[in-house]
Amino acid sequence: MHAIAPALEAVRARIAAACAASGRAPGAVRLLAVSKRQPPAALAAAVAAGQRAFGESQVQEALPKIAALGRQAPDGGPLEWHFIGPVQRNKTRAIAAQFDWLHSLERADIAARLGAQRPAGLPPLQVCVQVNISGEASKHGVAPAQAAALCQAVAALPGLRLRGLMGIPAPDPDSARRRESFRVLSALLAALNASGLALDTLSMGMSDDLEAAIAEGSTLVRVGSAIFGERM
Ligand SMILES: *Cc1c(COP(=O)(O)O)cnc(C)c1O
Repeated sequence: MHAIAPALEAVRARIAAACAASGRAPGAVRLLAVSKRQPPAALAAAVAAGQRAFGESQVQEALPKIAALGRQAPDGGPLEWHFIGPVQRNKTRAIAAQFDWLHSLERADIAARLGAQRPAGLPPLQVCVQVNISGEASKHGVAPAQAAALCQAVAALPGLRLRGLMGIPAPDPDSARRRESFRVLSALLAALNASGLALDTLSMGMSDDLEAAIAEGSTLVRVGSAIFGERM
């Protein structure tokens, strides 16, 4: 069986080294463990090894895992559930009720539904707008030129708290080109903040490219296979 605790430790070491290499504080980058297509036992092993934030990309698959793992670690600290997949219209109610974060918002009408459906007893849903940083190569995310309008709309909605931007570079053997995509997203965040938004989250970097993402200012890396091994 794939050993999750040492793999998690190795990912933490990669993040720390990447922070050091770019002169950033060791705690500047959060680790989201992407647990999609992993069994509940794998998540439990990660919790036991100190991991607290988990990313899922399908509502149907995530709900039983949230029910199994709950919202608290054995030490009493909170577990955080992040939705990172495409949001279907008929799934907004479940996402609004069950998740703490959404990284993959691409439409204003979906944002309005999520805000309206967020239960009153919960803190606002923490939201990142997904930006298409790879042009034709990706069908997900808003075009960079459309990001400001969607961010303004989200920032005005009750029930949601706009935190930042998320991006996934197209698979590209050329690591310099992937890094260029991260730079584009980082510059966009800076421009939005200069225009009056207060965004503190840059969700970028995965198992294969977290170093490049951190060098370009990522504040949260979404890492699956490097922690959990192959997906089911
Ligand atoms: C699956 C997934 C990841 C994790 O990918 P790995 O290469 O396994 O680290 C990160 N972000 C999103 C949006 C994903 O769907």
